[in-house]
Amino acid sequence: TTAPPAHRRVLLKLSGEVFGGGEVGVDPLVVKGIAEQIAAAVRDGVQVAIVIGGGNFFRGAELQQKGMDRVRADYMGMLGTVMNCLALQDFLEKAGVQTRVQTAITMGQVAEPYIPLRAIRHLEKGRVVIFGAGAGMPFFSTDTVSAQRALETKCDRLLIAKSGVDGVYSADPKLDPDAVKYDTLTFAEALHEGLRIVDTAAFSLCQDNRLEMLVFGMEGEGNITRALQGEKIGTTVTA
Ligand code: UDP
Repeated sequence: TTAPPAHRRVLLKLSGEVFGGGEVGVDPLVVKGIAEQIAAAVRDGVQVAIVIGGGNFFRGAELQQKGMDRVRADYMGMLGTVMNCLALQDFLEKAGVQTRVQTAITMGQVAEPYIPLRAIRHLEKGRVVIFGAGAGMPFFSTDTVSAQRALETKCDRLLIAKSGVDGVYSADPKLDPDAVKYDTLTFAEALHEGLRIVDTAAFSLCQDNRLEMLVFGMEGEGNITRALQGEKIGTTVTA
């Protein structure tokens, strides 16, 4: 008897950092909680695609600062995202949701290769599709990939789940007590103000293709389910 979801197909971007619960690696309890929130929305008929970051393992730019070659470090970053995908896949399946992982770097024993039309087919069948290994290209971020995957698999909306902040602010609220939260914002404003909560490449990809974005805090009770169901929490960013 629930109302039909406002958004039929959505892409959820989760940062890798939350998967680690603040540490390197995966915190199963955190992943289980996230999976159960996603499962609730899937049961309501929302088609869910997911991109996960890898910040709980490696970030290419950080390894570069410590002396590594950037390209190789970025590949390490991408491989880290795949471990997060498998962890989420496991807990989604335990929550009764069918899943497929598709990776941009082929690894047949672990996941399907990224095949967009096949991903769409999975989504239509109610399976959650988890995209791993980023774009498979160094110098990209998983934020940017989430916008690209949302566009290519024809998602209605891009949902960016953030930890420690509940939307887009005029400045970093942890550093600036005068920072104000935006209810709505345009991509042009976000880019002009130099807001870094989402990568500029992701903002401009959404702007050029008129893909609506919701930036929300994942800490509130049931927030991930609510965002997936189309509830207006956090900040809406539009073209
Ligand atoms: N990465 C990359 N190309 C991609 C996606 C990711 O090279 O298309 C690498 C990059 O080194 C990045 C790391 O993977 O730092 C982890 O991704 P990200 O930093 O976006 O994860 P998050 O901050 O969302 O946890």
